[in-house]
Amino acid sequence: MESMGLVDGPGNRTLFFLQGCPLRCAYCHNPDAITTSGGKEITPEDILKTARRYRTYHGEEGGITFSGGEPLLQGEFLYEALEKLKNDGFNTCVDTSGIGNPKYYSKIMPLIDVMLLDVKAFDEESFKDICRGDLSVYLKFIRDLEKYGFQGMIWARHVMVPGLTDNKESMEKFVEILEPVKNRVERIEILPYHTAGVKKYEELKIPYRLEGVEPMDKDKAKELEIYTNKYFTESLHKERVEEAKKKQKKAKNILQNERDLKEKDKALIEEIKSLPLLKGISSEKMEEVLKEIHIIKKNTNDYVFQTDDEASYMYLILKGQVKIFYNTIDGKEQIFYIYRDQDFVGGLNLLEHESYLYNGQALTDCEIISIPREVFEEYILTNPESLKIILKMSFERIRWAEDLIQRLSTSNASMKTAGLLLRLKNSIGVETEEGIKLELSLNREELGNYSGLTRETVTRKLGEFKELGYIDLIGNKIILIKDLEALEDFVF
Ligand code: SF4
Repeated sequence: MESMGLVDGPGNRTLFFLQGCPLRCAYCHNPDAITTSGGKEITPEDILKTARRYRTYHGEEGGITFSGGEPLLQGEFLYEALEKLKNDGFNTCVDTSGIGNPKYYSKIMPLIDVMLLDVKAFDEESFKDICRGDLSVYLKFIRDLEKYGFQGMIWARHVMVPGLTDNKESMEKFVEILEPVKNRVERIEILPYHTAGVKKYEELKIPYRLEGVEPMDKDKAKELEIYTNKYFTESLHKERVEEAKKKQKKAKNILQNERDLKEKDKALIEEIKSLPLLKGISSEKMEEVLKEIHIIKKNTNDYVFQTDDEASYMYLILKGQVKIFYNTIDGKEQIFYIYRDQDFVGGLNLLEHESYLYNGQALTDCEIISIPREVFEEYILTNPESLKIILKMSFERIRWAEDLIQRLSTSNASMKTAGLLLRLKNSIGVETEEGIKLELSLNREELGNYSGLTRETVTRKLGEFKELGYIDLIGNKIILIKDLEALEDFVF
Protein backbone atom coordinates (compact mmCIF):
# COMPACT_ATOMS: atom_id res chain seq x y z
CA MET A 1 0.00 0.00 0.00
CA GLU A 2 1.09 3.58 -0.63
CA SER A 3 -0.81 6.29 1.24
CA MET A 4 -0.06 9.24 -1.05
CA GLY A 5 0.42 8.61 -4.77
CA LEU A 6 0.44 11.54 -7.18
CA VAL A 7 0.90 9.95 -10.60
CA ASP A 8 -1.38 6.93 -10.71
CA GLY A 9 -4.69 8.58 -11.51
CA PRO A 10 -6.16 12.04 -10.95
CA GLY A 11 -5.35 14.02 -7.78
CA ASN A 12 -3.90 12.60 -4.57
CA ARG A 13 -4.44 8.89 -4.26
CA THR A 14 -4.11 5.99 -1.90
CA LEU A 15 -2.65 3.00 -3.74
CA PHE A 16 -3.13 -0.70 -3.14
CA PHE A 17 -0.87 -3.17 -4.94
CA LEU A 18 -2.51 -6.53 -5.58
CA GLN A 19 -0.31 -9.58 -5.77
CA GLY A 20 -0.01 -11.75 -8.89
CA CYS A 21 0.35 -11.08 -12.62
CA PRO A 22 -0.04 -13.37 -15.65
CA LEU A 23 2.53 -11.37 -17.65
CA ARG A 24 6.30 -11.33 -17.44
CA CYS A 25 7.38 -7.90 -18.65
CA ALA A 26 11.08 -7.61 -19.37
CA TYR A 27 11.23 -4.27 -17.49
CA CYS A 28 8.88 -5.12 -14.60
CA HIS A 29 10.16 -3.28 -11.54
CA ASN A 30 7.92 -5.29 -9.19
CA PRO A 31 9.10 -8.86 -9.91
CA ASP A 32 8.21 -9.70 -6.29
CA ALA A 33 4.54 -8.88 -7.07
CA ILE A 34 4.28 -11.28 -10.02
CA THR A 35 3.64 -14.53 -8.18
CA THR A 36 0.27 -15.05 -6.51
CA SER A 37 1.91 -15.99 -3.20
CA GLY A 38 3.37 -13.42 -0.84
CA GLY A 39 2.08 -10.00 0.16
CA LYS A 40 -0.25 -9.35 3.07
CA GLU A 41 -3.78 -10.69 3.22
CA ILE A 42 -6.45 -8.05 3.67
CA THR A 43 -10.23 -7.90 3.15
CA PRO A 44 -12.38 -5.46 1.13
CA GLU A 45 -13.51 -4.04 4.50
CA ASP A 46 -9.85 -3.30 5.34
CA ILE A 47 -9.52 -1.43 2.05
CA LEU A 48 -12.55 0.71 2.88
CA LYS A 49 -11.28 1.39 6.39
CA THR A 50 -7.87 2.53 5.09
CA ALA A 51 -9.47 4.55 2.31
CA ARG A 52 -11.65 6.39 4.82
CA ARG A 53 -8.60 7.18 6.92
CA TYR A 54 -6.93 9.00 4.02
CA ARG A 55 -10.06 10.56 2.56
CA THR A 56 -9.12 14.11 3.59
CA TYR A 57 -5.88 13.87 1.56
CA HIS A 58 -7.71 12.95 -1.62
CA GLY A 59 -9.28 16.36 -2.21
CA GLU A 60 -11.87 16.80 -4.94
CA GLU A 61 -10.24 14.74 -7.68
CA GLY A 62 -8.29 12.05 -5.87
CA GLY A 63 -9.28 8.64 -4.56
CA ILE A 64 -8.17 5.03 -4.54
CA THR A 65 -5.99 3.28 -7.13
CA PHE A 66 -5.49 -0.47 -7.47
CA SER A 67 -2.25 -1.45 -9.10
CA GLY A 68 -0.07 -4.52 -8.97
CA GLY A 69 0.73 -7.05 -10.15
CA GLU A 70 -2.46 -7.23 -12.15
CA PRO A 71 -5.53 -6.18 -10.11
CA LEU A 72 -7.96 -7.79 -12.57
CA LEU A 73 -6.51 -11.18 -11.69
CA GLN A 74 -8.13 -11.00 -8.23
CA GLY A 75 -11.55 -10.30 -9.73
CA GLU A 76 -13.80 -11.24 -6.84
CA PHE A 77 -11.81 -9.28 -4.27
CA LEU A 78 -11.47 -6.26 -6.55
CA TYR A 79 -15.20 -6.23 -7.28
CA GLU A 80 -16.13 -6.31 -3.60
CA ALA A 81 -13.60 -3.62 -2.71
CA LEU A 82 -14.68 -1.35 -5.58
CA GLU A 83 -18.33 -1.76 -4.71
CA LYS A 84 -17.70 -0.71 -1.11
CA LEU A 85 -15.59 2.24 -2.23
CA LYS A 86 -18.14 3.45 -4.77
CA ASN A 87 -20.96 3.16 -2.23
CA ASP A 88 -18.86 5.34 0.03
CA GLY A 89 -18.33 7.97 -2.67
CA PHE A 90 -14.65 7.31 -3.55
CA ASN A 91 -13.15 7.97 -6.96
CA THR A 92 -11.75 4.65 -8.20
CA CYS A 93 -8.90 3.85 -10.51
CA VAL A 94 -7.48 0.54 -11.75
CA ASP A 95 -4.05 0.15 -13.31
CA THR A 96 -4.23 -2.80 -15.69
CA SER A 97 -2.35 -4.56 -18.45
CA GLY A 98 -5.69 -5.84 -19.78
CA ILE A 99 -4.93 -9.50 -19.12
CA GLY A 100 -6.93 -10.58 -16.06
CA ASN A 101 -9.81 -12.83 -15.10
CA PRO A 102 -12.74 -12.05 -17.47
CA LYS A 103 -15.23 -13.78 -15.17
CA TYR A 104 -15.65 -10.61 -13.10
CA TYR A 105 -15.21 -7.97 -15.80
CA SER A 106 -18.90 -7.14 -16.15
CA LYS A 107 -19.16 -6.57 -12.40
CA ILE A 108 -15.93 -4.61 -12.08
CA MET A 109 -15.97 -2.35 -15.13
CA PRO A 110 -19.03 -0.23 -14.23
CA LEU A 111 -17.31 0.60 -10.91
CA ILE A 112 -14.11 2.07 -12.38
CA ASP A 113 -13.87 5.85 -12.82
CA VAL A 114 -10.42 5.93 -14.39
CA MET A 115 -8.50 3.12 -16.01
CA LEU A 116 -4.72 3.31 -16.30
CA LEU A 117 -4.42 1.18 -19.40
CA ASP A 118 -0.93 -0.18 -20.03
CA VAL A 119 -0.14 -0.76 -23.68
CA LYS A 120 2.92 -2.98 -23.65
CA ALA A 121 3.65 -3.26 -27.37
CA PHE A 122 1.91 -2.72 -30.69
CA ASP A 123 2.32 -5.91 -32.68
CA GLU A 124 1.98 -9.58 -31.87
CA GLU A 125 5.65 -10.42 -31.97
CA SER A 126 6.87 -7.53 -29.80
CA PHE A 127 3.99 -8.08 -27.38
CA LYS A 128 5.06 -11.68 -26.87
CA ASP A 129 8.68 -10.63 -26.72
CA ILE A 130 8.31 -7.85 -24.17
CA CYS A 131 5.67 -9.28 -21.80
CA ARG A 132 5.17 -12.93 -22.84
CA GLY A 133 1.50 -12.14 -23.47
CA ASP A 134 -0.99 -12.65 -26.29
CA LEU A 135 -1.84 -9.43 -28.14
CA SER A 136 -5.17 -10.82 -29.39
CA VAL A 137 -6.39 -11.29 -25.77
CA TYR A 138 -5.39 -7.71 -25.01
CA LEU A 139 -7.11 -6.34 -28.13
CA LYS A 140 -10.29 -8.21 -27.25
CA PHE A 141 -10.16 -6.67 -23.77
CA ILE A 142 -10.06 -3.17 -25.29
CA ARG A 143 -12.78 -3.95 -27.81
CA ASP A 144 -15.13 -5.34 -25.14
CA LEU A 145 -14.57 -2.72 -22.45
CA GLU A 146 -17.82 -0.86 -23.06
CA LYS A 147 -19.68 -4.14 -23.47
CA TYR A 148 -18.57 -4.99 -19.94
CA GLY A 149 -20.09 -1.71 -18.79
CA PHE A 150 -16.99 0.48 -18.56
CA GLN A 151 -18.09 4.12 -18.62
CA GLY A 152 -15.02 5.82 -17.19
CA MET A 153 -12.00 7.64 -18.61
CA ILE A 154 -8.78 6.06 -19.80
CA TRP A 155 -5.22 7.14 -19.26
CA ALA A 156 -3.28 5.11 -21.80
CA ARG A 157 0.33 4.37 -20.81
CA HIS A 158 3.34 2.89 -22.49
CA VAL A 159 6.77 2.10 -21.05
CA MET A 160 9.25 3.25 -23.67
CA VAL A 161 12.40 1.18 -23.97
CA PRO A 162 15.28 2.62 -26.04
CA GLY A 163 15.71 0.82 -29.32
CA LEU A 164 12.27 -0.78 -29.14
CA THR A 165 9.49 1.79 -29.45
CA ASP A 166 11.27 5.17 -29.18
CA ASN A 167 10.15 6.28 -32.64
CA LYS A 168 7.17 8.03 -34.24
CA GLU A 169 6.07 5.01 -36.23
CA SER A 170 5.56 3.01 -33.02
CA MET A 171 3.66 5.90 -31.46
CA GLU A 172 1.29 5.97 -34.44
CA LYS A 173 0.66 2.26 -33.93
CA PHE A 174 0.02 2.99 -30.24
CA VAL A 175 -2.73 5.43 -31.25
CA GLU A 176 -4.21 2.88 -33.69
CA ILE A 177 -4.50 0.30 -30.92
CA LEU A 178 -6.59 2.75 -28.90
CA GLU A 179 -9.13 3.09 -31.71
CA PRO A 180 -11.98 1.09 -30.04
CA VAL A 181 -11.81 3.23 -26.88
CA LYS A 182 -10.63 6.51 -28.41
CA ASN A 183 -13.59 8.48 -27.10
CA ARG A 184 -12.68 7.53 -23.54
CA VAL A 185 -8.97 8.30 -23.74
CA GLU A 186 -8.28 11.39 -21.67
CA ARG A 187 -4.50 11.36 -21.84
CA ILE A 188 -1.61 9.38 -23.22
CA GLU A 189 1.51 8.96 -21.12
CA ILE A 190 4.93 7.71 -22.06
CA LEU A 191 6.82 6.28 -19.09
CA PRO A 192 10.57 6.24 -19.76
CA TYR A 193 12.17 2.88 -19.02
CA HIS A 194 14.42 2.96 -15.93
CA THR A 195 16.66 0.45 -14.24
CA ALA A 196 15.62 1.07 -10.61
CA GLY A 197 14.17 -2.44 -10.29
CA VAL A 198 17.28 -4.33 -11.49
CA LYS A 199 18.51 -4.86 -7.93
CA LYS A 200 15.36 -6.78 -7.02
CA TYR A 201 16.15 -9.24 -9.82
CA GLU A 202 19.61 -9.80 -8.39
CA GLU A 203 18.13 -10.36 -4.92
CA LEU A 204 15.50 -12.76 -6.26
CA LYS A 205 18.11 -14.40 -8.49
CA ILE A 206 15.96 -13.94 -11.61
CA PRO A 207 17.75 -13.23 -14.90
CA TYR A 208 17.11 -9.67 -16.11
CA ARG A 209 16.14 -9.71 -19.81
CA LEU A 210 17.06 -6.11 -20.54
CA GLU A 211 20.58 -6.46 -19.20
CA GLY A 212 22.77 -3.70 -20.62
CA VAL A 213 19.90 -1.54 -21.97
CA GLU A 214 20.38 2.08 -20.92
CA PRO A 215 17.52 4.00 -19.24
CA MET A 216 15.30 5.86 -21.70
CA ASP A 217 16.28 9.47 -22.31
CA LYS A 218 13.56 11.45 -20.49
CA ASP A 219 13.59 14.41 -22.90
CA LYS A 220 13.20 12.16 -25.91
CA ALA A 221 10.38 10.28 -24.16
CA LYS A 222 8.65 13.62 -23.42
CA GLU A 223 9.08 14.71 -27.04
CA LEU A 224 7.48 11.48 -28.25
CA GLU A 225 4.73 11.81 -25.65
CA ILE A 226 3.85 15.24 -27.06
CA TYR A 227 3.99 13.84 -30.60
CA THR A 228 1.67 10.94 -29.66
CA ASN A 229 -0.87 13.18 -27.97
CA LYS A 230 -0.91 15.52 -30.97
CA TYR A 231 -1.18 12.64 -33.40
CA PHE A 232 -4.05 11.24 -31.36
CA THR A 233 -6.03 14.50 -31.23
CA GLU A 234 -5.35 15.15 -34.92
CA SER A 235 -6.67 11.75 -35.88
CA LEU A 236 -9.74 12.34 -33.72
CA HIS A 237 -10.22 15.70 -35.40
CA LYS A 238 -9.82 14.18 -38.87
CA GLU A 239 -12.42 11.60 -38.02
CA ARG A 240 -14.84 14.27 -36.82
CA VAL A 241 -14.31 16.26 -40.03
CA GLU A 242 -14.99 13.12 -42.07
CA GLU A 243 -18.14 12.46 -40.06
CA ALA A 244 -19.27 16.06 -40.48
CA LYS A 245 -18.70 15.77 -44.24
CA LYS A 246 -20.72 12.57 -44.36
CA LYS A 247 -23.52 14.27 -42.45
CA GLN A 248 -23.42 17.25 -44.78
CA LYS A 249 -23.63 14.91 -47.76
CA LYS A 250 -26.57 13.13 -46.19
CA ALA A 251 -28.23 16.45 -45.42
CA LYS A 252 -27.72 17.49 -49.05
CA ASN A 253 -29.36 14.29 -50.22
CA ILE A 254 -32.23 14.86 -47.86
CA LEU A 255 -32.65 18.41 -49.10
CA GLN A 256 -32.04 17.57 -52.76
CA ASN A 257 -35.56 18.54 -53.69
CA GLU A 258 -35.38 21.75 -51.75
CA ARG A 259 -35.94 25.10 -53.38
CA ASP A 260 -36.29 28.71 -52.33
CA LEU A 261 -39.54 30.58 -52.72
CA LYS A 262 -39.77 32.65 -55.88
CA GLU A 263 -41.78 35.74 -56.77
CA LYS A 264 -44.02 33.63 -58.99
CA ASP A 265 -45.08 31.44 -56.03
CA LYS A 266 -47.72 34.00 -55.07
CA ALA A 267 -50.46 31.51 -54.21
CA LEU A 268 -48.04 29.39 -52.23
CA ILE A 269 -46.74 32.41 -50.33
CA GLU A 270 -50.29 33.35 -49.36
CA GLU A 271 -50.91 29.77 -48.24
CA ILE A 272 -47.77 29.84 -46.08
CA LYS A 273 -48.69 33.19 -44.55
CA SER A 274 -52.07 31.84 -43.52
CA LEU A 275 -50.66 28.74 -41.80
CA PRO A 276 -51.78 28.88 -38.15
CA LEU A 277 -48.22 28.50 -36.86
CA LEU A 278 -47.03 31.56 -38.80
CA LYS A 279 -50.18 33.62 -38.74
CA GLY A 280 -49.34 36.05 -35.92
CA ILE A 281 -46.00 37.07 -37.42
CA SER A 282 -46.00 40.72 -38.54
CA SER A 283 -45.83 41.32 -42.29
CA GLU A 284 -42.42 42.93 -41.92
CA LYS A 285 -40.99 39.93 -40.12
CA MET A 286 -42.82 37.59 -42.48
CA GLU A 287 -40.77 38.99 -45.39
CA GLU A 288 -37.62 37.90 -43.54
CA VAL A 289 -39.09 34.48 -42.77
CA LEU A 290 -40.03 33.91 -46.41
CA LYS A 291 -36.47 34.65 -47.49
CA GLU A 292 -35.07 31.98 -45.18
CA ILE A 293 -37.48 29.06 -45.48
CA HIS A 294 -37.38 26.40 -48.19
CA ILE A 295 -39.89 24.11 -49.83
CA ILE A 296 -39.01 20.42 -49.97
CA LYS A 297 -40.78 17.91 -52.16
CA LYS A 298 -40.72 14.32 -50.96
CA ASN A 299 -41.93 11.24 -52.75
CA THR A 300 -43.71 8.42 -50.93
CA ASN A 301 -41.20 6.52 -48.72
CA ASP A 302 -38.53 9.27 -48.87
CA TYR A 303 -37.07 10.14 -45.49
CA VAL A 304 -37.53 13.67 -44.18
CA PHE A 305 -35.08 12.97 -41.34
CA GLN A 306 -33.57 9.95 -39.70
CA THR A 307 -32.56 8.91 -36.19
CA ASP A 308 -29.38 10.73 -35.07
CA ASP A 309 -29.65 13.41 -37.75
CA GLU A 310 -28.78 16.76 -36.28
CA ALA A 311 -31.98 18.77 -35.73
CA SER A 312 -31.36 21.97 -37.67
CA TYR A 313 -34.85 22.54 -39.08
CA MET A 314 -38.45 22.59 -38.07
CA TYR A 315 -40.60 20.88 -40.68
CA LEU A 316 -44.06 22.18 -41.42
CA ILE A 317 -46.17 19.94 -43.61
CA LEU A 318 -47.95 21.74 -46.43
CA LYS A 319 -49.34 18.72 -48.24
CA GLY A 320 -49.19 14.98 -47.66
CA GLN A 321 -48.55 12.74 -44.68
CA VAL A 322 -45.40 11.86 -42.75
CA LYS A 323 -45.07 8.98 -40.30
CA ILE A 324 -42.85 9.29 -37.23
CA PHE A 325 -41.44 6.00 -36.05
CA TYR A 326 -38.47 4.15 -34.68
CA ASN A 327 -37.19 0.64 -35.15
CA THR A 328 -37.37 -1.42 -31.98
CA ILE A 329 -34.45 -3.65 -30.98
CA ASP A 330 -36.26 -6.69 -32.32
CA GLY A 331 -36.39 -5.00 -35.72
CA LYS A 332 -40.05 -3.96 -35.67
CA GLU A 333 -41.26 -0.55 -36.70
CA GLN A 334 -43.20 1.33 -34.01
CA ILE A 335 -45.16 4.25 -35.43
CA PHE A 336 -45.89 7.07 -32.99
CA TYR A 337 -47.58 9.74 -35.04
CA ILE A 338 -48.86 10.45 -38.48
CA TYR A 339 -48.56 14.11 -39.35
CA ARG A 340 -50.39 15.80 -42.15
CA ASP A 341 -51.27 19.27 -43.50
CA GLN A 342 -50.28 22.07 -41.14
CA ASP A 343 -48.65 19.74 -38.60
CA PHE A 344 -45.09 20.53 -37.63
CA VAL A 345 -42.28 18.33 -36.44
CA GLY A 346 -38.90 19.03 -34.87
CA GLY A 347 -39.68 22.04 -32.66
CA LEU A 348 -38.68 20.36 -29.40
CA ASN A 349 -35.46 19.01 -30.89
CA LEU A 350 -34.52 22.53 -31.98
CA LEU A 351 -35.18 23.87 -28.50
CA GLU A 352 -33.12 21.14 -26.87
CA HIS A 353 -30.36 21.29 -29.52
CA GLU A 354 -30.55 17.54 -29.79
CA SER A 355 -30.59 15.06 -32.66
CA TYR A 356 -33.71 13.31 -33.84
CA LEU A 357 -34.57 10.24 -31.83
CA TYR A 358 -36.98 8.98 -34.46
CA ASN A 359 -37.38 8.72 -38.21
CA GLY A 360 -39.70 10.84 -40.31
CA GLN A 361 -40.75 9.20 -43.59
CA ALA A 362 -43.20 10.37 -46.24
CA LEU A 363 -46.31 8.19 -46.40
CA THR A 364 -47.51 10.03 -49.49
CA ASP A 365 -45.94 12.52 -51.86
CA CYS A 366 -45.37 15.57 -49.68
CA GLU A 367 -44.62 19.25 -49.80
CA ILE A 368 -42.86 20.40 -46.67
CA ILE A 369 -41.53 23.74 -45.50
CA SER A 370 -38.14 23.56 -43.80
CA ILE A 371 -37.59 26.33 -41.28
CA PRO A 372 -33.97 26.80 -40.16
CA ARG A 373 -33.25 26.85 -36.44
CA GLU A 374 -32.30 30.56 -36.46
CA VAL A 375 -35.65 31.52 -38.02
CA PHE A 376 -37.49 29.30 -35.59
CA GLU A 377 -35.77 30.94 -32.63
CA GLU A 378 -36.03 34.51 -33.89
CA TYR A 379 -39.51 34.66 -35.37
CA ILE A 380 -41.57 31.71 -34.17
CA LEU A 381 -40.51 31.36 -30.57
CA THR A 382 -40.95 35.09 -30.04
CA ASN A 383 -44.45 35.11 -31.49
CA PRO A 384 -47.11 34.48 -28.78
CA GLU A 385 -49.65 33.04 -31.23
CA SER A 386 -47.14 30.54 -32.61
CA LEU A 387 -46.13 29.61 -29.09
CA LYS A 388 -49.75 28.94 -28.13
CA ILE A 389 -50.10 26.58 -31.08
CA ILE A 390 -46.83 24.81 -30.26
CA LEU A 391 -47.98 24.36 -26.67
CA LYS A 392 -51.43 23.15 -27.68
CA MET A 393 -50.01 20.64 -30.13
CA SER A 394 -47.40 19.49 -27.62
CA PHE A 395 -50.13 18.76 -25.07
CA GLU A 396 -52.13 16.91 -27.71
CA ARG A 397 -49.06 14.84 -28.53
CA ILE A 398 -48.48 14.02 -24.86
CA ARG A 399 -52.11 12.94 -24.59
CA TRP A 400 -51.70 10.87 -27.72
CA ALA A 401 -48.51 9.29 -26.36
CA GLU A 402 -50.33 8.38 -23.14
CA ASP A 403 -53.15 6.96 -25.19
CA LEU A 404 -50.63 4.99 -27.26
CA ILE A 405 -49.00 3.54 -24.12
CA GLN A 406 -52.41 2.52 -22.86
CA ARG A 407 -53.32 1.00 -26.21
CA LEU A 408 -50.05 -0.91 -26.46
CA SER A 409 -50.20 -2.17 -22.89
CA THR A 410 -53.74 -3.49 -23.15
CA SER A 411 -53.93 -7.10 -24.26
CA ASN A 412 -57.26 -6.67 -25.95
CA ALA A 413 -56.91 -6.61 -29.74
CA SER A 414 -60.41 -5.16 -30.19
CA MET A 415 -59.54 -2.18 -27.99
CA LYS A 416 -56.29 -1.65 -29.87
CA THR A 417 -58.02 -1.76 -33.24
CA ALA A 418 -60.85 0.53 -32.11
CA GLY A 419 -58.29 2.95 -30.61
CA LEU A 420 -56.38 2.93 -33.87
CA LEU A 421 -59.51 3.73 -35.90
CA LEU A 422 -60.45 6.58 -33.56
CA ARG A 423 -56.97 8.05 -33.80
CA LEU A 424 -57.06 7.83 -37.57
CA LYS A 425 -60.49 9.45 -37.50
CA ASN A 426 -59.03 12.41 -35.60
CA SER A 427 -56.11 12.84 -37.94
CA ILE A 428 -57.46 12.01 -41.40
CA GLY A 429 -61.21 11.38 -41.02
CA VAL A 430 -63.59 13.09 -43.46
CA GLU A 431 -67.33 13.25 -42.70
CA THR A 432 -69.44 11.87 -45.55
CA GLU A 433 -73.08 10.88 -45.85
CA GLU A 434 -72.20 7.19 -45.53
CA GLY A 435 -69.98 7.67 -42.49
CA ILE A 436 -66.52 8.89 -41.57
CA LYS A 437 -64.15 8.14 -44.40
CA LEU A 438 -60.53 7.22 -43.67
CA GLU A 439 -58.43 7.31 -46.80
CA LEU A 440 -55.39 5.32 -45.79
CA SER A 441 -51.83 5.91 -46.75
CA LEU A 442 -50.80 3.01 -44.46
CA ASN A 443 -50.84 -0.61 -45.48
CA ARG A 444 -52.05 -3.34 -43.09
CA GLU A 445 -48.54 -3.94 -41.80
CA GLU A 446 -48.12 -0.26 -40.95
CA LEU A 447 -51.54 -0.21 -39.32
CA GLY A 448 -50.25 -3.02 -37.13
CA ASN A 449 -47.10 -1.04 -36.32
CA TYR A 450 -49.25 1.91 -35.37
CA SER A 451 -51.43 -0.10 -33.02
CA GLY A 452 -49.06 -2.66 -31.54
CA LEU A 453 -50.70 -5.56 -33.37
CA THR A 454 -49.54 -7.92 -36.07
CA ARG A 455 -50.69 -7.41 -39.65
CA GLU A 456 -52.78 -10.59 -39.43
CA THR A 457 -54.57 -9.44 -36.26
CA VAL A 458 -55.37 -6.02 -37.71
CA THR A 459 -56.79 -7.65 -40.84
CA ARG A 460 -58.82 -10.10 -38.77
CA LYS A 461 -60.15 -7.41 -36.41
CA LEU A 462 -61.12 -5.09 -39.24
CA GLY A 463 -62.99 -8.02 -40.82
CA GLU A 464 -64.81 -8.64 -37.54
CA PHE A 465 -65.72 -4.95 -37.15
CA LYS A 466 -67.05 -5.02 -40.70
CA GLU A 467 -69.20 -8.04 -39.95
CA LEU A 468 -70.52 -6.30 -36.85
CA GLY A 469 -71.45 -3.31 -38.99
CA TYR A 470 -69.12 -0.88 -37.22
CA ILE A 471 -67.12 -0.16 -40.33
CA ASP A 472 -67.06 -0.82 -44.03
CA LEU A 473 -63.96 -1.69 -46.01
CA ILE A 474 -63.71 -0.28 -49.52
CA GLY A 475 -60.76 -1.97 -51.18
CA ASN A 476 -57.52 -1.87 -49.24
CA LYS A 477 -57.23 1.85 -48.86
CA ILE A 478 -60.54 3.14 -47.57
CA ILE A 479 -62.26 2.46 -44.25
CA LEU A 480 -65.69 3.89 -43.56
CA ILE A 481 -66.60 4.27 -39.89
CA LYS A 482 -70.33 3.60 -39.68
CA ASP A 483 -70.87 3.21 -35.94
CA LEU A 484 -68.59 5.62 -34.10
CA GLU A 485 -70.23 5.00 -30.73
CA ALA A 486 -69.57 1.27 -30.92
CA LEU A 487 -65.86 1.95 -31.47
CA GLU A 488 -65.77 4.51 -28.67
CA ASP A 489 -67.33 1.97 -26.33
CA PHE A 490 -64.24 -0.22 -26.73
CA VAL A 491 -61.91 2.56 -25.69
CA PHE A 492 -63.66 4.80 -23.15
S1 SF4 B 1 2.10 -6.23 -16.13
FE1 SF4 B 1 3.07 -4.99 -14.57
S2 SF4 B 1 3.27 -6.33 -12.82
FE2 SF4 B 1 2.85 -7.62 -14.57
S3 SF4 B 1 4.84 -8.22 -15.28
FE3 SF4 B 1 4.27 -6.44 -16.44
S4 SF4 B 1 5.08 -4.71 -15.35
FE4 SF4 B 1 5.16 -6.47 -13.95
